[in-house]
Amino acid sequence: MNVKFEDIIQKFVEGNKQYQGQILQDEESNQIDGKIPRYPVLILTCMDPRIDVYRIFQLKLGDAFVLRNAGNVYTEDVLRSVLVAIHKYNIQYIVVLGHLDCGMKKLRLQDLTNKLTDSAIKKIGKSGTNFHLELLKFFKAFTDEIKNIENQVYKFRNAREIPTDIRIMGMLYDPNTGWVFRNEELKSYSNYEDFAKDYRNILQTKKFELIGYIESHQDEIIGEGVLQDVERLIDIDENRKNIPPTEITKNQESIINEKFEEIPNEPPIINSNKIVSKGVYSDLISIPKIKIPKIFIPKIKVHVPVIYKKSKEDF
Ligand SMILES: [Zn+2]
Repeated sequence: MNVKFEDIIQKFVEGNKQYQGQILQDEESNQIDGKIPRYPVLILTCMDPRIDVYRIFQLKLGDAFVLRNAGNVYTEDVLRSVLVAIHKYNIQYIVVLGHLDCGMKKLRLQDLTNKLTDSAIKKIGKSGTNFHLELLKFFKAFTDEIKNIENQVYKFRNAREIPTDIRIMGMLYDPNTGWVFRNEELKSYSNYEDFAKDYRNILQTKKFELIGYIESHQDEIIGEGVLQDVERLIDIDENRKNIPPTEITKNQESIINEKFEEIPNEPPIINSNKIVSKGVYSDLISIPKIKIPKIFIPKIKVHVPVIYKKSKEDF
């Protein structure tokens, strides 16, 4: 399906009006208190639209710098932004956030070459001695997401332009489960294959961590019954034997797609303090959130007192 550019822009414009409506109702804010960015960190991630950095880390507006490109790779232009972030905004830390199922892993250079215009081919392969090598250098495709993170971290650490006291860390995101894996969790896997083989155990560990987290935060933000949902997820995983992430992905994608086809645009049903979206994610429920239908009040500013606000120390 080819969506018209005008329709997309129209959606953006309407989305912006909705945002303004939310600002009027104090549901959203574009105000940032304190310094920018709040945390002295820059995150380099992929342009993949499934990665919403602010959402997956539950960051707020103004919290961190985010740079994106295809494959979260170190480039001249990334260096340019990083140097501005370091010397103008006093950034001290850099996170290279790679992800599973990255399009750059599946990039077939030959297919791409066939689609390039003659002038693009001339420009990219300018030295002309080894066109394939020039293409590789230009597009920076890779074959292993985990090795790629390691390589990019290495490039940052070895860039002479970057001061030696800047700390750099690699992380991995799985768009299909929403989990982020820290450097410590990745370092025992030298490549994607090893990681994929052990993925079931890795996820299991994460879910136990989640149970610990829910137990210690249950009173604050999470509704009753979530713990059982997480435990149920662990039981489901017990039945899956060493399924690599890409295969889990396909299963989950088909579940989600099927369910979406069943119930287009239905509002969520509010069930005590838990949303049950009529099964959309019922097989994948993690932490349900309360969502109250939005009431648009055009001119009157409604002030809703904030009941719970996370403190800085919660980060
Ligand atoms: Zn990607």
